Amino acid sequence: MTDDAPTPTRLFDAATFIKSAPRLTDIGEDAGAEVAFAGRSNAGKSTALNALVGQKALARTSRTPGRTQMINLFGLGGEKEEARYRLVDLPGYGFAKVPQAVRRQWGEAMGQYFAERQSLVGVVVIMDIRHPAKELDQQMLDYAASRGLPVLALLTKADKIGFGQVKQTVARLEREHPLPNGQWMAFSGTKKTNVREARQVIAGWLTDAG
Ligand code: GDP
Repeated sequence: MTDDAPTPTRLFDAATFIKSAPRLTDIGEDAGAEVAFAGRSNAGKSTALNALVGQKALARTSRTPGRTQMINLFGLGGEKEEARYRLVDLPGYGFAKVPQAVRRQWGEAMGQYFAERQSLVGVVVIMDIRHPAKELDQQMLDYAASRGLPVLALLTKADKIGFGQVKQTVARLEREHPLPNGQWMAFSGTKKTNVREARQVIAGWLTDAG
């Protein structure tokens, strides 16, 4: 981070909603720097985003699984139009009911986005700490790794299990799924565990790039 780079607090406390887009090709100009948030539906992605920006309802928590399939864009640092720093909230994956063809299309679009988007500087993969590193999560981690993008593997709902179990799970994942350019981190949107640490990681990626 350079000396005059905005602090994590300044970036996240001034988050604004930019827009929702139906497709990754509609998310806007490939300029500035953005961090993508991916996760299985119901993993706690919206709750994590809201905890990170310190707002109750910037990202909509999903009441009806499968309903919110839009991509949501948030600007950081108080900028809105053509925001220099952005968070990209990708649709939750893993619905049993989504037809195979739609899933394949989505997979291809994601592959292309991860491979080609120049302003993408890092990926946050949100997983329920009780069910981490499922196949599609692994695919997200692999997409990021294949581009050499840094990854934050956020194990949310850590408040739902004991402290010892949290430590054990993180240690096991570090051993079994090492992230060469990333890290596993326990998190709780509800209890705000590691909000400051996650903000620091993400803000570092953004300000280093832009
Ligand atoms: P999304 O579909 O990934 O955006 O998941 P949501 O953020 O909507 O969360 C799904 C459910 O998990 C909701 O009932 C949340 O209240 C709950 N939840 C999310 N994060 C946490 C957390 O850190 N701790 C606890 N206890 N519950 C959480």
